[in-house]
Amino acid sequence: MPARNILVVNCGSSSIKFALVSEAHSQFPLSGLAERLSTQDAVIHWQCSDQRQDSMLVSGADHRAALSQLLPIVNGAAGGELHGIGHRVVHGGELFTTATLIDARVVQAIQATAPLAPLHNPANLQGIEAAMKLFPNLPHVAVFDTAFHQTLPEHAYRYAVPETLYHQHGVRRYGFHGTSHRYVSRRAAEMAGLSVGDSSWLCAHLGNGCSTCAIVDGHSRDTSMGLTPLEGLVMGTRSGDIDPNLHGHLARTLGWSLERIDRMLNNDSGLLGLSGLSNDMRTLEQAREKGHAGATLAIEVFCYRVAKSLAAMGCALQRLDGLIFTGGIGENSPLVRHKTVTHLRLFGLALDCEANARCVRGVGGPIQAYGHPRVLVVPTNEERQIALDTLALLPA
Ligand code: AMP
Repeated sequence: MPARNILVVNCGSSSIKFALVSEAHSQFPLSGLAERLSTQDAVIHWQCSDQRQDSMLVSGADHRAALSQLLPIVNGAAGGELHGIGHRVVHGGELFTTATLIDARVVQAIQATAPLAPLHNPANLQGIEAAMKLFPNLPHVAVFDTAFHQTLPEHAYRYAVPETLYHQHGVRRYGFHGTSHRYVSRRAAEMAGLSVGDSSWLCAHLGNGCSTCAIVDGHSRDTSMGLTPLEGLVMGTRSGDIDPNLHGHLARTLGWSLERIDRMLNNDSGLLGLSGLSNDMRTLEQAREKGHAGATLAIEVFCYRVAKSLAAMGCALQRLDGLIFTGGIGENSPLVRHKTVTHLRLFGLALDCEANARCVRGVGGPIQAYGHPRVLVVPTNEERQIALDTLALLPA
């Protein structure tokens, strides 16, 4: 069978990230971003595997118009041979435990899950509906961020709140970044020469959004994000865990509205809030070098909280085959890896300085000190995992 091509689409409220993934090549023949959609400044940027870059102004284009402008570019890069479309969908609730071929029933179910992800699912659906109209003859597959975590045991996914909130309103921990945790845990098993079905990992996905995960025999057994992607670690602009009474405290003492508190916790907190400087780890590392107190504190809190969460995830494992770092920060920051692992001495973890420094900009590999438990840097590739999931559902 000739190598097949899958278009992977990730729609936000005003953007579409896309990548053409080929079975035959590790590099994407085409990848890019359409942004500022539905404004006069709407623009599509793309890059081909030969590094050629291009942009096109598409003033006023919405998701559908942008996708239709993309059509000839995608077709050109795919040599006219496109076999399916994989859509990233953030929240699959309890309905979706795996990637699913999209039909009218699936669209309805994604709609029904929208109250759990009001910012993400409606935007994902816009992309799905537009792409299904433009590519009516291709199979479309939804790949959910939450699906991998549907194997959490009940003691890991239930909150200690009245049970009716769970049974009638779906209030439970769902977890996110599932596509990344799944991809890197499989890659880690390959790198370590283990079978994924008999392996046991702690994983830290550290990017703008951050989460940890305990993965046993290829299944997620616990994860740090919860009902929404706000729970858990310190992130770029998200607070992660706080005292749940903070809402009441701010409302009572400062008269803040729910919307204002939500905005503060999601957009003004995390590394940005702590440092008073930036949500970007590169900027913070540079500022720390120059003695910036806020940046120094933000990095310290970030790393301590990653380590603390990983230690907690250890409760879900019976043995440790390795700790995985991934995501923009996990793949590129020797400083964050060093500080995090230093807090995990109790687990016997320690890093080899040179190997740690070497693993940046797409270079992965083992970074543990000789004789200590395995620590791996594994570049994530959510687009390829979405393409693989899509390929698996195509008719033979
Ligand atoms: P992601 O959301 O996975 O794209 O990751 C974005 C985060 O990765 C941002 O905080 C970036 O500052 C961080 N990042 C990317 N490259 C580096 C680097 N060389 N050193 C430290 N952080 C980095």
